[in-house]
Amino acid sequence: GQEEVFQVTVSSLRDGLVLCIFRDVTEEEKAGEMRRDFVANVSHELRTPLTALMGFIETLKHAARDDPKAREVFLGIMEAEAGRMNRLVRDLLHLSRVEAEERVRPREPVELRGLLEGVISSLRGMAEREGDRVELTGDPVTVPGDWDQLVQVFTNLVENALKYGAAGQVVRVSLTPEETVRGPAVRVEVADEGEGIDPVHIPRLTERFYRVDTHRSREMGGTGLGLAIVKHIVSRHRGWLRIESEKGRGSRFQVVLPLG
Ligand code: ADP
Repeated sequence: GQEEVFQVTVSSLRDGLVLCIFRDVTEEEKAGEMRRDFVANVSHELRTPLTALMGFIETLKHAARDDPKAREVFLGIMEAEAGRMNRLVRDLLHLSRVEAEERVRPREPVELRGLLEGVISSLRGMAEREGDRVELTGDPVTVPGDWDQLVQVFTNLVENALKYGAAGQVVRVSLTPEETVRGPAVRVEVADEGEGIDPVHIPRLTERFYRVDTHRSREMGGTGLGLAIVKHIVSRHRGWLRIESEKGRGSRFQVVLPLG
């Protein structure tokens, strides 16, 4: 398991008496380590597109200066790399905003069925490109929440279902009442027909920059921050996220939100 870290203070008192104080700083050490990892990850994620951009600028200045065809190709790649940096910075800002507000529970009434209809229609273009269909079932239900943040949660989940699911699939979004120990709630499920996720990865999916397949995620324009943002927003709403997946059958992402 996890190593424990202690801070030890030794003071000698009178008559050769020594006082030894052990303080468990495992949590602080872990937080510090996570922060260092995070900064290292962000730097790496930004540096990759930046290195590509610098390389192409150099090529455009010299080798490709008088070759209009090559220039066009390089500018296209540069645009894509700049787009990747832009998405990363956008997601980092979202994440830090959500984290800063995490203690304040949002309380505007949010009707989820209408919200989900909006999310699905804004992703129609992407679904069509994949040849997918998105189906919505369940009755209207209102929860206390933050409209924009919940839009972001379900946009991320439906986008992931479309990205990682099989082409031509049906993505099923459903609203179901659920009784929890903390009172009445609603469960919103996003189910895809993709290849599923190996159980070893599931507990780590909401970690920042954790991806099952880095190459695939990058190719799809992913930043690796989507589910981390989802987790923080859901926990700000005093809800929780469940992930179930069956290899070869698909995945189900469930968000449970309390009604009061
Ligand atoms: P990304 O930007 O990489 O999509 P996310 O935080 O949204 O980042 O997701 C993290 C990882 O979880 C993804 O890279 C992918 O490997 C996996 N994942 C997320 N949603 C699904 C899904 N519906 N089916 C299979 N894998 C998924």
